[in-house]
Formats: sequence, C-alpha cells, structure tokens
Amino acid sequence: MKKRVLITGAAGFLGSHLCDRFIREGFQVAAMDNLITGSKTNIEHLFQHPDFEFFHHDISKFVHLPGELHYIMHFASPASPIDYLKIPIQTLKVGSLGTHNLLGLALNKKARMLIASTSEVYGDPLVHPQNEDYWGNVNPVGPRGVYDEAKRFQEAMTMAYHTYHQVETRIARIFNTYGPRMRLDDGRALPAFMSQALRGEDITVFGDGSQTRSFCFVDDLVEGLFRLLMSDYASPVNIGNPSEITIKDFAEEIIALTGTDQKIVYMPLPTDDPKQRQPDITRARSILGWEPKVARQEGLKITYNYFKTLPEFNKN
Ligand code: UDP
Repeated sequence: MKKRVLITGAAGFLGSHLCDRFIREGFQVAAMDNLITGSKTNIEHLFQHPDFEFFHHDISKFVHLPGELHYIMHFASPASPIDYLKIPIQTLKVGSLGTHNLLGLALNKKARMLIASTSEVYGDPLVHPQNEDYWGNVNPVGPRGVYDEAKRFQEAMTMAYHTYHQVETRIARIFNTYGPRMRLDDGRALPAFMSQALRGEDITVFGDGSQTRSFCFVDDLVEGLFRLLMSDYASPVNIGNPSEITIKDFAEEIIALTGTDQKIVYMPLPTDDPKQRQPDITRARSILGWEPKVARQEGLKITYNYFKTLPEFNKN
C-alpha cells in the first residue's frame, strides 16, 4: 500500500520540489494550492502522473480531503518580503487559520504533519549563529511582523496539538533557500540579482550590503525536510546551510558568474531587515545525520541555468 501525503503550497518553489521528491519516493501526492503566489507551471509535469492529484483550494478555509492520509507537509504561505507586504492579511490567515485547519485534518486522519517554519522566528537575531533554543527578536507590528508572527503562532499551535492531542508533528525552521523555480519577481536577493544581470540592469543591493545571509540549495533542503518528517523528533530543527556571506559579496559572486558588466547600486535598507543570519545545524547533524552537500558555486550555476531558460529571456 502506497502512503499518501498532502502538500500545501504545492505549486510554490519548495512545495513543487517536495512534490517531485515524494513522487520519486513512491508516495501518492495530494497537492494543494490557491495559486496566489504559486504557479501551476512548477508542477504541470506531474499532472499526468497516476499518483498525483491537484486541489485548487485556500487552506485558510475548511480543508476537506476524502480518503486516507498519512502525512501532511504544510508549505502554504507567501514567503518573500514583497509578497507578504502586498498580502499581509492572507499571510497571517494561512499561518494561523490555515495551520489550525490542517492540524484538525491531521488529528482526524491520524496523519503526521511537518510545518514549514522559518529563521524569521528569530527576527533580527541578537544571538549568532542561531540555534533552536534562541527565542528571537521580532517586531510584531513592523512590516515583517505579519509573516514572523504567523509563523511563531504556527509553531505554538502545532506544539499544542502535539501536546494536547498527541498529533505527530515536526517543525522545520527553514533558512534562506534558493534554486530552480524561485519566482523571478519575488523580490528576493537571488532572483533579483540574476534577473537584473540577465536584463542588463543595475544590481540593487539594499543598505551597504554588509548584512549577511546563509543560502541553502533546494535539493539539500528537501533532503533535510524528508529526514525530519521520517524522524521521531517533535521539537524545532533548523534546516539551512551555515555558509554565511554578506549580501554585497553575494551580489559580486552573481556578477562574476553571469559575466554581466552591470554595477552594484545601493538602495535603502528595508525596515527591520535582519543584520545577520546563520543557522546552527548541530541538532540537524546529530538527529537527522544531515548536512548540506551542494556548494554555493555549484548551486548558483544550476539556478542561473534555470533562469536563462525562462520564456522572458528567450523571446526570439
Ligand atoms: N536584498 C538586496 N537587494 C535586492 C533584494 C534583497 O540587497 O534586490 C537584500 C535584503 O535587504 C536582505 C537580503 O538581500 O538583506 C536577503 O533578502 P531576501 O529578500 O532574499 O531574504 P530575507 O531578507 O527574507 O532573508
């Protein structure tokens, strides 16, 4: 008997890679998305697969899914700063009401549920690198608060269902991730820099570029998530790549990779933009036996080759 997994946010960047992985592992995949930030093109190659079903649904509303269900991967949410600035209420609702609906479904179906939490629960961190015992430094009423607090509520609600209803739950705190199928216009640093290079535009670094991030290639992340789901560990686990870089150096790496002759231009730093971010992955190493394998140089090349194939850059 094949196991069945519900993947929410299935048409998004991470969701679509999870669909591929679970199909490859021999699961039946129920994919759900309301397509406000996701795109069907990310999963259209799976539509003819006998083990793949797609449900166009907003999980902030009651989720009805007939049939057996063994696992839920909850990846539905706007996830880039410009998206959650544009749709702040939906961001809050999917993290809170959506998570509650899915936990109810998990309880009802006796399914194990993994939630996509985030390094944003640490806010602009005062501890470096960030380990899972750090409680964070979040501004609830700032522009990022709608995402950060929704995700913090999501963790609290998930832990409550685990404690009071004995639902099997897993909490992944995902750090910056990149790879093919990122949305070109999602406003994040990597798609912004690569699309600027491809269009011959200036490379926009916010602030003085001294803020840091640590970028994980999507295949590494998916491996970590899969291992976490299959583990018996209910407390939060950081999944990310500890290789940290300033945004200015990151922009320069992309300039070198793409061979663009464009220059960096400096723009104002967005409000509450975290100054530094690096996952402490000691827990993931010891509990999951996992660590990232793909070096940034290699991952960036794969991602750039994907962006180059997009219709926007192949008009003639
Ligand atoms: N950033 C930038 N130029 C851009 C887009 C983003 O300098 O065109 C910066 C942004 O201010 C942040 C970092 O790059 O400091 C990573 O931003 P991203 O939106 O990719 O992720 P997050 O801030 O959520 O980690």
